[in-house]
Amino acid sequence: MRSLVVVARPPGWGDLVVRAGSGTNQEAVRRHNLGTLLGHVHHGGRISRASLTTMMGLNRSTIAGLVGELESLGLAEQSAPTASRHGAGRPSPDVVPIGDGAYVLAVDIRVDGLAVARIGLGGTVLSRATGPIPTTRTPEATADAVVELLRIVVREAPASSALVGVGVSVPGLIRRTDGLVRLAPNLGWVDVPFGQILDHRLGGVATVHTGNDADLGALAEHLRGAGVDGSDLIYLSGEVGVGAGIIVDGHHLGGGGGYAGEIGHLQMDPAGRLCHCGSRGCWETQVGAPAIAEAIGCPQDRIASLGDVLDGLAEANEGLREVGHLLGSGIASAVNLLNPRVVVLGGYLRSLYPLVGAEVESGLHDRALVAPREQVQVALPVLGGDTVIVGAAEMAFAALLEDPVACLANARTDVDRALGVVA
Ligand SMILES: [Zn+2]
Repeated sequence: MRSLVVVARPPGWGDLVVRAGSGTNQEAVRRHNLGTLLGHVHHGGRISRASLTTMMGLNRSTIAGLVGELESLGLAEQSAPTASRHGAGRPSPDVVPIGDGAYVLAVDIRVDGLAVARIGLGGTVLSRATGPIPTTRTPEATADAVVELLRIVVREAPASSALVGVGVSVPGLIRRTDGLVRLAPNLGWVDVPFGQILDHRLGGVATVHTGNDADLGALAEHLRGAGVDGSDLIYLSGEVGVGAGIIVDGHHLGGGGGYAGEIGHLQMDPAGRLCHCGSRGCWETQVGAPAIAEAIGCPQDRIASLGDVLDGLAEANEGLREVGHLLGSGIASAVNLLNPRVVVLGGYLRSLYPLVGAEVESGLHDRALVAPREQVQVALPVLGGDTVIVGAAEMAFAALLEDPVACLANARTDVDRALGVVA
């Protein structure tokens, strides 16, 4: 007889049901607890054993045993508690993640360039590299360019450090079941198995996971940024297109196939401009990068540097203020629908917002219902320009946090050699 054990995944990614054979339930539960505890340490950074006891509802000796196991796996260490927390009685030791104990490789594929990072347990960026996206933008050439950048960031990985996953962000519709890129319009990709292509070039060195850029931005800001104190968040990714990553009641909202969040194609003006999707008057024709560029007279072929151009502006002109107002109006629709506590503005919107904050607020005020409007805050990403790549890393860490023992047993430590890095 087989039974089901529900294993919590990182916040925002729902629950995973694993099958455990008869007699292995206790072991499955112990591994689940080990992963949950590692998740608290990974996301919390430094956390006392007493806090872990309270958070997990387990007794002190069980927590001590689990912490000991993480120490023996090389994933965490204990240190003296910080002085400020001394109260009555014996202080509880802190548990701290070991950044080089395990790491992931995170990849951010953008229309305007490539970024990769080696990110350690605890979320620390250990090494990074950036490069241009190949002019052809074909999946094969892009994968080759990504591998070249990954060779740079794995070069300094300690020999004891294990690669536990690869996370790739793509600005497009990603099929949840297998990571197929159904459509990435601004890369010209249709039904591209990019994860498989990259996996092949990496020689199967670790499992490659693929996610949508806005979804990953939402995950990162929810776990480590502007939404860390709340459960309901919308991350708006403003690039050539505009997408949303949505966290509702602590869970990622993916829809039936993983395609939810295409907020850029809500129709805002039936008589508006034609959108690449075939409809007319989509929100992204009003507030996407081409609309922003047009408002400030930036040539369309310089859109790749639009963030820098906006950062260099002292104030907004009338056209840009109108874009700000339309941005606020669109946010109001999302606020009315989903009642988020925070709306995080990523991508080019991060550079736009400081110039048109008042217009965004007035657009929001004009269109949002009072009750949800009173609860929402428009914010910039706490993780700055790293939001999406940190989200890609969190996606790749999920397997380790589900079952640290099994994940480490399959992990490679000789990644530099596997990728053909010459010392
Ligand atoms: Zn559209």
